[in-house]
Amino acid sequence: MHQFFDRSIEYLKGVGPQRAETVNKELQIFTFGDLLQHYPFRHEDRSKFYKINELQPDLPYVQIIGVFKSFKTIGVGRKARLVGVFADDSGTIEMVWFKGIQWIQRNLTIGVSYVAFGKATLFNGKFNMAHPEVEVQTEKNTKGGYLQPIYHTTEKMKKKGLDSRFFSKAMKVLLVEAVNQIQETLPDHLISQFKLVNKKTAVVSMHFPRTAQHYTSAQNRMKFEELFFVQLRLIKLKIARTEKFRGAVIDHSELLTQFYENHMPFELTGAQKRVIKEVYSDFRSGQQMNRLVQGDVGSGKTMVAFLSMLIAIGSGFQCAFMAPTEILAEQHFKGLQEQAKPLGIHIARLTGSTPKSERRLIHEGLMSGVITILVGTHALLEDKVQFKKLGIAIIDEQHRFGVAQRAKLWTKTKDVYPHVLVMTATPIPRTLAMTLYGDLDISVIDELPSGRKPIQTKHFFETKRLEMFGFVENEIEKGRQAYIVYPLIEESATLDYKDLMDGYEGITRRFPNYQISIVHGRMKAEDKEWEMQRFLKGETQIMVATTVIEVGVNVPNATIMVIENAERFGLSQLHQLRGRVGRGADQSYCVLMSGVKLSTDGRKRLRTMVDTTDGFKIAEVDLELRGPGDLMGTRQSGVLDLLVSDLVQDGEILKVARVAAQDLLKEDPNLELPKHQMIKAHIDSFSKNAVNWGRIS
Ligand code: ADP
Ligand code: MG
Repeated sequence: MHQFFDRSIEYLKGVGPQRAETVNKELQIFTFGDLLQHYPFRHEDRSKFYKINELQPDLPYVQIIGVFKSFKTIGVGRKARLVGVFADDSGTIEMVWFKGIQWIQRNLTIGVSYVAFGKATLFNGKFNMAHPEVEVQTEKNTKGGYLQPIYHTTEKMKKKGLDSRFFSKAMKVLLVEAVNQIQETLPDHLISQFKLVNKKTAVVSMHFPRTAQHYTSAQNRMKFEELFFVQLRLIKLKIARTEKFRGAVIDHSELLTQFYENHMPFELTGAQKRVIKEVYSDFRSGQQMNRLVQGDVGSGKTMVAFLSMLIAIGSGFQCAFMAPTEILAEQHFKGLQEQAKPLGIHIARLTGSTPKSERRLIHEGLMSGVITILVGTHALLEDKVQFKKLGIAIIDEQHRFGVAQRAKLWTKTKDVYPHVLVMTATPIPRTLAMTLYGDLDISVIDELPSGRKPIQTKHFFETKRLEMFGFVENEIEKGRQAYIVYPLIEESATLDYKDLMDGYEGITRRFPNYQISIVHGRMKAEDKEWEMQRFLKGETQIMVATTVIEVGVNVPNATIMVIENAERFGLSQLHQLRGRVGRGADQSYCVLMSGVKLSTDGRKRLRTMVDTTDGFKIAEVDLELRGPGDLMGTRQSGVLDLLVSDLVQDGEILKVARVAAQDLLKEDPNLELPKHQMIKAHIDSFSKNAVNWGRIS
């Protein structure tokens, strides 16, 4: 249908097979369609001409019109440079070339009027321009009023003359024909509702805008389109799933009420209540729940999970609760057991280290329905683990589990799909969540239990180590406990391990009167567990550890978190670690230790930690510093293969596009209305290629 855009670029005038091959290899541009979407990364302003006496050192690239008065070559051999004196009616400036001297001199003529384009720099009190672009003045290039597109190329391409100008020329040739082939992909009502420019205009202006304003309008249109189609697809996926996948109807809340009235240890926060209501309403809907609960560390997600499970159990269903590590699974197991005891609920635990004999009993208990809650690690995902009637699967700290693993939980029981509740303490900026988890419903616990004192965070340079130790000692004397955490990065594991051991030694020497625990990845699981337990019971005062304690561990009496080499941690990890303290009623502290030399990003990370405890703000900064791809290893997810949009900057457009997609699918879920046929066609055309949402053809 769109053969034009599938045509190979070698057939474009001025390209040919050899150049095409280089472009294929270097930039993966194969077809007319690909080329058209090779948008410039910036434009140079060719809309104004400067007089030589108007030049300032801080101006960007500028263009001037004038004539060469003279040329001379200064120096010899490799040091030779060509200097041309260029003049207009206001003054003169020296143009300097260090390379290609002979060729340039041959091609420039004294007395002919040229347009020169370059950066004017002040040298010895006089302006000069090194390697300017020079063109004979014509009517066309004097009219001005245009923005020159600058295209990304590679060094290899530049050597072969395939530079930005090459693309600019090729694009002009291509556009002449392409313009008549470009089809509108958005219906009129959206175009007029959001005052968008049409697709033809937008594509042309992406490359050759007449003014900066035109360029902005073009970008807005292309971004809207891209984000709109991403959202449309995600929401369609969700609709398809809710239609196809019936969920168990879970609607008996008596057990929940019984617990709530007789055993509830504290008052729920408003946010917790709201999220439980949301879950309950999903339970009753008859459709499978797929809900993400985002709540900062310490916001009380476990209680929300437990109460949700009580509704399921009270309605005759079983529950699975999956945690990312053994330590966490263990802690959840104990905590839930404690709470479930008065209700007579049977809880079992399954991890990698569960002995075989015990496993068999668990498998049987699950199939017979005797076990109502199974807590564990990813061992829960093994095929052997099957439930009689699984109603809900809860995944704690989602980012450690892949999407495929999430889907695996659906196969754990016959007849119905279990409801899925994913809990994460890594706040994701809304824009990213809408794209990454656009197919999940999102609940937010944005309130901490009352009475918590915000953690105070300090940053100490290495030189203030003694001060830090003094501070730690002070707190321990008050009866509190401290964590001291060392980074452990895969690539430098041996060095890091040495750091940890040296640190441990230093600490034992500094605090001879305290009991000190150590936990790291090279220890056996049971030894780790034993040390954790000692710390938890208050038998040791200091816990020296690598990041194994990062997630979930709950020791309310621990009020100090010292993070060594804090500059080496990412923001979300720092935030997670800090979340290990501040869990009791006492004032808690986080101390970030770092070397004196910090990178700009490193400084910003530490500054952010000192300035705020708000996980969402931290996530925003993290997104800004790292970009969406690196955040949480989402690079491969495909969803984020965005061509023109930027999730950091285009949050507003994204919101609007998502609402537009929702409204449209509400009116016409299967895209059957005549006015939506262009959308349907567009989706069908790119679902074959899956990723590129803003595709031309
Ligand atoms: P997270 O959201 O990080 O998983 P937890 O569920 O571990 O947080 O809760 C942290 C601590 O706060 C636990 O000790 C828990 O018992 C307590 N907690 C949870 N909700 C409340 C509440 N509404 N009021 C007081 N304490 C609460
Ligand atoms: Mg938790």
